[in-house]
Amino acid sequence: MKAACYHAPMDLTCEQTDRPACQPTDVMVKVGACGICGSDLHFYKLGLFSEVLGRPTEKGLVPGHEFGGEVVEVGDQVQGISVGDRVTGIAFGAMAEYVPITPAILGFTVYKLPDEVSFDEAATVEPLSTSYHATRLGEPVDGESAVVFGAGIIGLGIIQSLKALDVKLKNLIVVDVSEKRLEMARQLGATHTVNPRSEDIMVRAREITGEMGILVAPGMTTPAVDLVYDAVGYIKGIQGPPIIQQATELVRDHGRVVVVGAFEGQVSVDLMPFLVKQVRIQGSYGYWPDQVIECIELIRNKKVDRMTLITHAFGLDQAKEAFDTQADSAGSIKVILKP
Ligand SMILES: [Zn+2]
Repeated sequence: MKAACYHAPMDLTCEQTDRPACQPTDVMVKVGACGICGSDLHFYKLGLFSEVLGRPTEKGLVPGHEFGGEVVEVGDQVQGISVGDRVTGIAFGAMAEYVPITPAILGFTVYKLPDEVSFDEAATVEPLSTSYHATRLGEPVDGESAVVFGAGIIGLGIIQSLKALDVKLKNLIVVDVSEKRLEMARQLGATHTVNPRSEDIMVRAREITGEMGILVAPGMTTPAVDLVYDAVGYIKGIQGPPIIQQATELVRDHGRVVVVGAFEGQVSVDLMPFLVKQVRIQGSYGYWPDQVIECIELIRNKKVDRMTLITHAFGLDQAKEAFDTQADSAGSIKVILKP
């Protein structure tokens, strides 16, 4: 079968590999579509997280964990899943014609798709679940002001999740360097967008949300941002102070920060604003199984439109082109591979 194989940073080719075996505990999925995740980009560009994100083959590591497809083989120990079921699930190596889900446990590593949810949409369920989990951890409340750093698939999914949860924010400010992504953020419901290449988020946040005092520091003020989502983390070569630093400076007294972006390296942070303003910093990683089911339902009932986020689709033969396109945030939002 064909598979996208990673060899070294920026070196990825389409190869002919052996089709993996379907163990008694597994199901084999014929992949309909597979998305390129932000974490796959860290892997592609720097070789990071390769032991987690790539399925080893004789031709290299096969990435891909955001997929939808059809079950073509079922191990005899697997329960509740049949050949012909349309599914998404948790597995690595889905940038290939076939991927095994091992072990296949319905409602945990395998989720059935309703007919109304396409494989392309299914390839965006995993990142939507990540966004949805992070959104809920922030405990957003009607009337609050929030800032989202990063308008990639996770940040945009946070905007979609806020809408789907029917949270009526007073201000939803989205920060990104890509005008294309900021335009999408506005389309999805951001009330303000800020491009840090031309504007200062600290200044803009005070203008938009106003200012408030700090309990333990009389005379000092802070922007009145209740909640910040960091869907960037740390990207090597990124300009300016770390996002988590900016987040603790932006957020109000007793505000909340949710960190969902991954870190390509260590960052140095001045923690005094965090301390003085008694900020709650919450990490967010992955999602709960019930949330995957909820996200599939949000797509099925059209409360969330994921197709608008898919800007490019490539065959496996153009896997490298697909990764380079995904890495170009000015020109793309979500890139998928269609074996
Ligand atoms: Zn992912």
